Amino acid sequence: MAQDLWTTDPRDALRAGPDFDLASFDRNGHPGWDGDKADGEEYLPERGEEMSELQERLFAEGREGGTRSVLLVLQGLDTAGKGGIVRHVLGMVDPQGVALASFGVPTEEERAHHYLWRIEKKLPPAGRIGVFDRSHYEDVLVVRVDELVPEDVWRARYDEINAWEKQLIENGTTIIKVALMVSFEEQGERLMERLDRPDKHWKFSPGDIDTRSKWPAFQDAYADVFRYTSTEHAPWYVVPADRKWYSRLAVTEILTRTLEELDLKWPEADFDVEEMKAALRATGEDAPA
Ligand code: ADP
Repeated sequence: MAQDLWTTDPRDALRAGPDFDLASFDRNGHPGWDGDKADGEEYLPERGEEMSELQERLFAEGREGGTRSVLLVLQGLDTAGKGGIVRHVLGMVDPQGVALASFGVPTEEERAHHYLWRIEKKLPPAGRIGVFDRSHYEDVLVVRVDELVPEDVWRARYDEINAWEKQLIENGTTIIKVALMVSFEEQGERLMERLDRPDKHWKFSPGDIDTRSKWPAFQDAYADVFRYTSTEHAPWYVVPADRKWYSRLAVTEILTRTLEELDLKWPEADFDVEEMKAALRATGEDAPA
């Protein structure tokens, strides 16, 4: 059996509290995990199995009339590893239990609506783990940095988002907000790798350079997101992302522990099990001729 080397619950180790300081945040660290990459890679599948069973329970509950769901919000700049979390973490659970949504540049129709309109359409149904690859937070990140709306408009959104998320939670959705924070140096290397490798060119877009050149403005925007929207009901977990093995391990652990706390029970059968066993036996062992 692989060793559990979490010395601190990653939700405590990574939660952005009032004193959180993004400028001094170590993006190469592995807070709470007292082990190395090999230890982490050994432990990951074990937790993945646990997460997968819990997800199945959540799904079963949803099928039986339960209303609960989980929403994982993933934010991070280009190359931070959002796609890797989807593939390697959510990839460990049954795809039918996962509802994935990605949010890119809004379409004309989306722009004609309130910014939460397209988000609400993608909320996870009961029993599912919803995953947002980017989210409503883009409306206080890129929208702020690129000055797509006036400051008073995006400033008002922090409170609006907090209130909106609170309501979601009251309606049965557990929200887990994860920001993957990669360092400037590591991002440079990952982008160069995308340019060096023809099999990674599809992941690169010329706009990534433009975004990278606005690094300080994006860091300020992220710092304010953590300052204003890391609430009691929906805190931000800021995850160092320079070591992919760590960010995947941490997000898996956060998800698994959150699911564990939902105290998910297998639904009780709404038929008489013994009666059904007798009925099944009565059908015999050989296929009817
Ligand atoms: P990714 O870069 O994550 O692979 P895409 O290339 O499809 O995904 O699109 C992401 C782009 O969409 C990012 O540059 C992001 O800033 C932008 N985007 C997302 N939401 C918004 C928004 N509300 N307004 C403007 N741009 C947005």
